[in-house]
Amino acid sequence: MPDPHPAGYIDLRSDTVTKPDQKMRAAMASAEVGDDVYGEDPTVNRLEQRAAEIFGKEAALFVPTGTMGNTIAIKMHTRHGEEVICEARSHLVDWELSMLAWFSGCLARTISADRGILTWKQIVGVIRTKGPHNAPTTLISLENTHNMWGGSVYPLAVIDEICARSHERGIKVHIDGARIFNASVALDVPVSRIARDADSVMFCLSKALGAPAGSLVVGTSEAIAEGRLYRKRLGGGMRQAGVLAAAGLIALEESPAGLPRDHENARFLALRLSELPGIEIDPAGVETNIVIFDISQTGLSPREFSHELKSRGVLANGVGATSIRMVTHRDVTRAQCERAVAAVTELCTRVPATAAV
Ligand SMILES: *Cc1c(COP(=O)(O)O)cnc(C)c1O
Repeated sequence: MPDPHPAGYIDLRSDTVTKPDQKMRAAMASAEVGDDVYGEDPTVNRLEQRAAEIFGKEAALFVPTGTMGNTIAIKMHTRHGEEVICEARSHLVDWELSMLAWFSGCLARTISADRGILTWKQIVGVIRTKGPHNAPTTLISLENTHNMWGGSVYPLAVIDEICARSHERGIKVHIDGARIFNASVALDVPVSRIARDADSVMFCLSKALGAPAGSLVVGTSEAIAEGRLYRKRLGGGMRQAGVLAAAGLIALEESPAGLPRDHENARFLALRLSELPGIEIDPAGVETNIVIFDISQTGLSPREFSHELKSRGVLANGVGATSIRMVTHRDVTRAQCERAVAAVTELCTRVPATAAV
């Protein structure tokens, strides 16, 4: 088994850093494959079928990345010149190189929402109907869990209301569920319940579920058939992708059971960090595997803070002007979280002396 922590670093930058375990590697080595562009890869087909079943949708599409999955989902629900409502700090807006505009020709109508959780009341205020002065709103995208808001989770009733009211107006709802399995664990309901009324969901195998690569889009057969064409246009037709799907199947079936441990580790980090001088975080706000804390009172910038942490063997990146993000995942143990806390403690208790210079 290769060392999951090269050079001994404790890597809390993201759950994307997880490496395929021995079981995944063995499944990859013996995967049955075919040409997936011809629909002939049995392992990809099985993965897509299982994803559709688990989410309670008609069909699924295996894509190389979450960004491509979101791009395809948006394209299948919209036409050029329409508006898509999403939260102001959503991945779609901040981290996908404006693909919403570049590929789908849509405008993001953003709303700043507390904890990143949009409500129907906020949404209804910015919906536009087609007219001589307005492009119509045709899609709402909900990020669940919300990455930049510290892995916050949508209450089911909020999603249900948004879907019901949107559908009355002929507006579709997409869930950017890169970490929807974390939401499922936090709410203790299956992902199919969260996704029940949504028109599509994108979720990642490559994050906390631990697969080396890959995401899926689920939805109606008709939408997914169209999505398949967009995937090809985007260069996502992957041929013998069964080697990846084999690891993805294990990630999909077995990894969700391990997520509660990641959430406990995140709560542990949040609680211990909240006791340190200069660190600000409300541990009660940590619902899943993402811990974002404010460091402005340490006198260090996020870049300096990251650099200092790295010299103590811990990797974590800045998000925003005054915050650091730590993400727990299957390749990080409780003992390593304790060492990470020790590194931050050392940093916070010696900073005043240096900051005063
Ligand atoms: C990671 C992520 C994605 C997709 O990212 P890729 O790196 O393209 O796989 C989409 N949405 C959210 C909320 C994410 O965290």
